[in-house]
Amino acid sequence: MLTPNEGKGKFVDYLAQKADVVVRYNGGNNAGHTINANGIKYKFKLIPSGAPLEKECVIANGCVVDPKVLLEEIENLKKLNKKINLKLSSTAHVIFPFHRTLDSLEEKSKGEYRAGTTKRGIGPTYSDKAARWGLRIYDLINPDVLRPKLEKLYKIKKDIIQVYDPSWNVDLESIYEEYKSYGKQLKPYVIDTAYYLNKAIDSGKRVVFEGAQGNLLCIDHGCYPFGTSSNANALGISAGTGIPPKKINKVVGIIKAYTSRVGEGKFPTELFNDTAEKIREQGHEYGTVTGRPRRVGWIDLFNIKYGIMINGIDKIIITLLDALQGIPTIKMCIAYELNGETLESWPIQHEIIEKCQPIYKSFEGWEERSRDKWLEISEKGYDTLPDTMKIYLQAIREELQVDIAMISIGPDRKETIVLDNNIF
Ligand code: GDP
Ligand code: MG
Repeated sequence: MLTPNEGKGKFVDYLAQKADVVVRYNGGNNAGHTINANGIKYKFKLIPSGAPLEKECVIANGCVVDPKVLLEEIENLKKLNKKINLKLSSTAHVIFPFHRTLDSLEEKSKGEYRAGTTKRGIGPTYSDKAARWGLRIYDLINPDVLRPKLEKLYKIKKDIIQVYDPSWNVDLESIYEEYKSYGKQLKPYVIDTAYYLNKAIDSGKRVVFEGAQGNLLCIDHGCYPFGTSSNANALGISAGTGIPPKKINKVVGIIKAYTSRVGEGKFPTELFNDTAEKIREQGHEYGTVTGRPRRVGWIDLFNIKYGIMINGIDKIIITLLDALQGIPTIKMCIAYELNGETLESWPIQHEIIEKCQPIYKSFEGWEERSRDKWLEISEKGYDTLPDTMKIYLQAIREELQVDIAMISIGPDRKETIVLDNNIF
């Protein structure tokens, strides 16, 4: 998960085939993960991508939970007759309506420094967590604990919101009643997920941790302030689950064959021409949560190298190679130049990034093919890929010095080519 919307949902589902447990450890319903399997298209914002395969799904403490959204996702799975094996952390934080209101108001005030958030209240909920007056799932499922804590938080938030908007007056009673009901419905799923997960690993179960967003959006190691409010990379796993770093034994990075971004932030390889339009159409680059057209550009291996260092990536997966079809020349950014000098490492500061020039290598592209043809190639395997695509993949491998474990040439679970079975 080095860039957002690269197909984490697809590959977590793929890896889940050989796993027992799938865990979300960061973010909330600002994520949007899509899985296409057996003719069904699943879209998850909160529920881990292990749900289509009816694996144990854990929403761990590092997440922020909008209970209404979670209950809707549970309902949707029930309608599909899916067995629900969900565990929800008692210490995940809860998103309230005033968090969503604040998300919109704060974005407006930030002007050119706005992150372009999904306005789902994620940032303000993490802010309250850090300020130590946030409410957790434990509070939600215990009405007697919920009441006094909610009263306090409501008063604080109301005073702030009314500075921006004096007419705001969502009443406490209705929030309390609504959330008390959510708590009652979610209670059967709530446990201490840190204990559960440690026991699962100790007993030999295979656990996949599913990142949301991507390295570039990490609160500490991404494009601050144009990112998200959690450690949206492998570094978030330990704090977000209670699993010690030494128990995590493989880190897989998923990257797109090009780059895309939702929201604001500096993007040196961004394209604005017909090629951008073609990639956007072929890659269906519209946000899963908001429907916003995503910004697109060439692959940025300089940025990805930094992500590989930060996350300790063992293997990479490259997705959406089919979305580059029919483009005569494909470019690959391998470094940045600033004031005539090539930089040694990716500059984390956006004021520097915006002054950098990407240095590119150019590659011959591959022809357009029908979906059926891509599916046929997936079935026949690596050797049947276009030669120009193989050259492009080899160049990525050499530049990054990391092996490619799998590639993806279509949205379906079947449109996958495994190059290295050691990933499982
Ligand atoms: P996530 O947030 O990383 O899980 O990704 P999203 O689900 O938000 O966006 C990825 C989109 O690309 C989804 O619609 C996937 O079905 C689709 N997808 C994943 N891999 C491929 C691929 O190799 N080719 C094509 N054409 N689509 C893909
Ligand atoms: Mg997504």
